[in-house]
Amino acid sequence: MAIATINPTTGETLRTFDALAQNQLESKLQLAYDTFQSYRRSSFDEREPLMLRAAQLIEDEKRSLAELMTTEMGKPFKAAVGEAEKCSWVCRYYAEMARQFLADELVSTEATKSYVRFEPVGPVLAVMPWNFPFWQVFRFAAPALMAGNVGLLKHASNVPQCSLAIEDIFLRAGFPKGVFQSLLIGSSEVEGILNDPRIVAATLTGSEPAGRSVAGIAGKQIKKTVLELGGSDPFIVMPSANLKKAAQVAVKARTINNGQSCIAAKRFIIASSIYNEFTEEFVNGMKRLKVGDPMAESTDIGPLATKQIVDELDEQVQRAVAGGARVLTGGRKIDGPGNFYEPTVLDNLEPDTPVSCEEIFGPVATIFKANDLDDAIRIANITSFGLGSAAWTNEPKEQKELIERLESGAVFINGMVASDPRLPFGGVKNSGYGRELSAFGIREFVNIKTVWIGE
Ligand code: NAP
Repeated sequence: MAIATINPTTGETLRTFDALAQNQLESKLQLAYDTFQSYRRSSFDEREPLMLRAAQLIEDEKRSLAELMTTEMGKPFKAAVGEAEKCSWVCRYYAEMARQFLADELVSTEATKSYVRFEPVGPVLAVMPWNFPFWQVFRFAAPALMAGNVGLLKHASNVPQCSLAIEDIFLRAGFPKGVFQSLLIGSSEVEGILNDPRIVAATLTGSEPAGRSVAGIAGKQIKKTVLELGGSDPFIVMPSANLKKAAQVAVKARTINNGQSCIAAKRFIIASSIYNEFTEEFVNGMKRLKVGDPMAESTDIGPLATKQIVDELDEQVQRAVAGGARVLTGGRKIDGPGNFYEPTVLDNLEPDTPVSCEEIFGPVATIFKANDLDDAIRIANITSFGLGSAAWTNEPKEQKELIERLESGAVFINGMVASDPRLPFGGVKNSGYGRELSAFGIREFVNIKTVWIGE
């Protein structure tokens, strides 16, 4: 894939970049390694003001950073401003909390003193996706750098300017050169980096095939990985729920980020007694969405990030229709320049067919009818993914069952799944392993060292 900024609203190629030459890549790996030798010994007192400065720079520049995101991958500008604000928050959060999360933990044993200490591990490679081009990177980088690691970013090839802007923020915040570097490279270079002894671990946020590949290579080298992969999150609605509110939130949960979010609700599983009522509200909500220029304040849905994504999405929709799905609204590409797709709702699909279980990355919802709570949970758990789940019910017994039996990294009751620096984030099954955010996230890339001192 070419490393280039292609505006998804117009289809225009705005800038192209040469991939790093081998000798340039080599210098960056060596710089990361050398920088780690000194940075690892810096204290929280030294790192904290740097991370707070990064937070302030993002806050001050959020409108220009947001414009960059919208230009490269098409998310509505107002959402991009929100993304920048969240990045500032995660920097501030770890600047303030890292010391507490990584403080020595005393353990009482027969020793005079025994305790656990958390040490940085070294240069970590981060392979990142375009869909939240800032947030995905900062939620890795803020904890990793506060823990004393150094980061190397291989960002998605369609967001090179976002990648460079992030490196620039850390440099201007005062982090030593080499603590965070952006590598403009294609995905074929990742294997060589993972095999390099100077790189100690990797995190990948992206698709299941990319995750399998990176984890396989790293596994052979006995290097730890964290994988944040795809999802086909269920959104269950039971009869006791506030239907109007559930339908309103359902529209947002499906179409956030133009429908290209790993934790977007993708399969709507509705109790049969309220199926018609919910579906009508939901379809009307999807019809009301304004598709158009992502820079316009009134736009709800912008273009999809690349032409290939539109084609893949359309192929899934046409396959579903050929398999008997009913199109309740939408169902087609929108003509003209730009990668636009109609907000679409499909029902009448069997829950276990391939298209019902695949990840659908765009503004296309599928609805399924459930006979009762057991049936809803069965349908929810039918896919090989397990990232997030949302369920709407006001029955405490149902809430308990859902929390216990849904196979996912998160369960949100009467709300939509969202990431939050204070709460762990990650999946089970083919959605990956490991956790980001909260105390759990910062402890992924540390040596949990046992210390035992005798008399
Ligand atoms: P992708 O194609 O897997 O790309 C993600 C990153 O991996 C890019 O930097 C890409 O580089 C690189 N890559 C692709 N194939 C690779 C390989 N074989 N070896 C090494 N690197 C490789 O995914 P995407 O289309 O950008 O992002 C969408 C996917 O990410 C969806 O499945 C979504 O659910 C998932 N996602 C998950 C989370 C989460 O937290 N669980 C969050 C956001 C997105 P190139 O661009 O150069 O190909």
